[in-house]
Amino acid sequence: MSTSKLAIFTALFAFACSRPGAEQQKKHEYAIVIHGGAGTILREEMSPEKEAAYKAALNAALDIGEKILRDGGSAMDAVEQTIRSLEDNPLFNAGKGAVFNHEGKNELDASFMDGVTRNAGAVGGVTIVKNPITLARAVMEQSPHVMLTGRGAEAFAIENGIDTVAPSYFFTQERWDALQRAIAVEKQKESGKPAKSNHKMGTVGCVVRDKQGNLAAGTSTGGMTNKRWNRLGDSPVIGAGTFADNNTCAISCTGHGEFFIRYVVAYDVAALMEYKNLSLEDAANTVVMDKLVKAGGEGGLIAVDKNGNVAMPFNSEGMYRGYSRPGERVVEIYK
Ligand code: ASP
Repeated sequence: MSTSKLAIFTALFAFACSRPGAEQQKKHEYAIVIHGGAGTILREEMSPEKEAAYKAALNAALDIGEKILRDGGSAMDAVEQTIRSLEDNPLFNAGKGAVFNHEGKNELDASFMDGVTRNAGAVGGVTIVKNPITLARAVMEQSPHVMLTGRGAEAFAIENGIDTVAPSYFFTQERWDALQRAIAVEKQKESGKPAKSNHKMGTVGCVVRDKQGNLAAGTSTGGMTNKRWNRLGDSPVIGAGTFADNNTCAISCTGHGEFFIRYVVAYDVAALMEYKNLSLEDAANTVVMDKLVKAGGEGGLIAVDKNGNVAMPFNSEGMYRGYSRPGERVVEIYK
């Protein structure tokens, strides 16, 4: 190469590296991102104790997943164990602490996806499974199917030695009171009086990039308070609430499920990366802050790509969220 050509090449290279997108190329050894639901989460309605409890729960969950990743464990193990800890915590609308349906019962949904193989497992409407995320993973690994629901899913859980509990295990007073409020709002609306429904959610999700560069995603929820007719949301729907593919990204969503199903939100982020070459951040923002906002779909998502870049956009008041990478820890609630 002549000296002048070399100078031009060097200048172009320096310019490319100085562009804002250059940071995106940096590879992080591992990355774990979690959410604990999006919705009407207002600073003025939160006590300092409650805020501290949420942050402690998010940090404890990240600790569990990060330890697995630091030790060289798989993205799938990190996703499962992290979500189990959130399911066991009554603060979140998943596992213990799940919301009640119209009949006063807890029906749980979850899904799990492996970015290496694009294998996936999901369960909907289970009432006795302590950790639905573990059942979703078992459906993926131990059945020829992707999605099981209701009594069949529970029979599969029992056959495969997955922990079951009495339905009363899922009861919390706070979620029971929320159901009573939702029913009262519904009655008020039926009688023609204006009423404001207040979506406070708490679905949980986790997406991971492990040291091998593999991606995985999972989501677990009790769905929406006062749901009826065995309603399923986006959380157990692969491509809507959960998606993972090593070539693009891993995604877990939270928000008004009907919109997330119709807009195939999780897969749409991956598709924008694959077919339009968008960065993870641009793809996630396009879907959550533009497409969903125009449609009226409230919520957000967490995302990680193969280089360990993370995105956590939401268009609601708040979203419990956080991530860890080597030497980095972020836990946030509000905008
Ligand atoms: N997406 C969940 C559902 O529609 C609810 C949530 O994320 O809060 O079931």
